[in-house]
Amino acid sequence: MQAWSKLSKMPAPAIRKLQNELLQKMLSEELAVRHPYYRELFKKENINPADIKGVEDLNKLPFTDKKDVLAPEDDPLYPKKFVLETPAGEEQKGKKKGFSLFGKKDTGPDPADYKFFTLYFTAGRTAKPVPMEYTHYDLDNLREAGARAFDILELTRDDTLINAFTFAPNAYFWQMFYSTIGTGSTALQTGGGKVLGMEKILKAMDSMEAPVLVCAPGYARFALQTLDHFGFSASNLERIVIGIDYAPQSAVDRISGLMKAVGAKDTKVQRMYFVSEAKSGWAECGPGTGYHTNPDHVLVEVVDPESGKVLGEGEKGEVVVTMLDGRGTVFLRFRTGDIATGGITTEPCPHCKRTVPRIMGDIERKGLYLELQGKDGPVRFNANKLREMMFAREGVLLWYAEINPGESGESVKVVLKGTSGSDEEKLLVAVQEELQNEFSVPLEVESSTLDAVANKIGLEKFITEQVIFDNRSS
Ligand SMILES: [Zn+2]
Repeated sequence: MQAWSKLSKMPAPAIRKLQNELLQKMLSEELAVRHPYYRELFKKENINPADIKGVEDLNKLPFTDKKDVLAPEDDPLYPKKFVLETPAGEEQKGKKKGFSLFGKKDTGPDPADYKFFTLYFTAGRTAKPVPMEYTHYDLDNLREAGARAFDILELTRDDTLINAFTFAPNAYFWQMFYSTIGTGSTALQTGGGKVLGMEKILKAMDSMEAPVLVCAPGYARFALQTLDHFGFSASNLERIVIGIDYAPQSAVDRISGLMKAVGAKDTKVQRMYFVSEAKSGWAECGPGTGYHTNPDHVLVEVVDPESGKVLGEGEKGEVVVTMLDGRGTVFLRFRTGDIATGGITTEPCPHCKRTVPRIMGDIERKGLYLELQGKDGPVRFNANKLREMMFAREGVLLWYAEINPGESGESVKVVLKGTSGSDEEKLLVAVQEELQNEFSVPLEVESSTLDAVANKIGLEKFITEQVIFDNRSS
């Protein structure tokens, strides 16, 4: 672990050099030796870790896909294949002891670093959740990632915070938890709507006079739009930190607008991007400045989602992560299925001047770039764009979309519930027209009751709401 104050100002070539060293160490001293899956894979594919001199040689190594890490039905212990084994006693004795450079005693790997501590699961949005083993070593890194994110967000112990991330064994909730503990800020860990419910969360925000709310973007929108209904004030609210779910810049603008409408003291909205397989989340310092990554923990590549070719800076592509410093479950070149619309940059941040690599633009889901079978052949349908438009649409309280098969071709149905006081008939016509202008697939829009829509999307039931339902495969 590097000192953040130093690391965050290091010139890009020095960061690259550090990453090269960490990568070589991870490959030769960890993965090739005590990682069951990669040890086997390297042998099978004749990969010599010594041939990988640094980041530019990474394309000699295969990707790890979601399907590679999913346990087969008959093999519940399969996830163990991705967990680093504890070093054997002989390895320690055999290791040359003494004083090495920098005056540090070289005593070999410490078995305590590899000892299982807890499991956090991946979100399982597109596949079944995968258990990620954390050791105390990983927990230290998670705490550090949390402290760095707060530094980037400029959150201090003076900021009373309502953590409304859903309580669950995942990196999102727990990184936020450890961040607040680390800074020593007054914080209410609500557990999210699933645990405490909207009314109590809003009441706490009001009565604790908390200036900061942390939650998923959809929940933030719902909270601001129901504040009136519950009769609470947002007059102390200054900022909302959103994360976990799809948070395009337009969602930031929409939430900011809603904060203004409910009379919030300030209307700052900041984004975080969590990658479970990278065991941490990264924050943005200002609007659109990109997610500031931790280059000593995780190596981020952006690749062409089709060919897998590593892309240049600023090019839109899939986010691929490699753990550079971790124990427990470790992945190499893991394809996240997330598309960074602005790619990655190693230029210093124009806002905070930090030099760590930043993931730019919005994060879209590769799995939501869909293709519908129309009467005259396949038609592209970017459901990310639909999510963006519906999020930003005034008058919509909750919504979801279904993609349905049909004899005359596949079609999209959008079901929504308008905000109280909205003219739903007018809203349906307007939304129908806007969507039909954007998408060239058959599309209908209808309204439903609050309960029906809330139930369908799993509001206060799932970690975040599910809004796109593809009925063609089931
Ligand atoms: Zn910055």
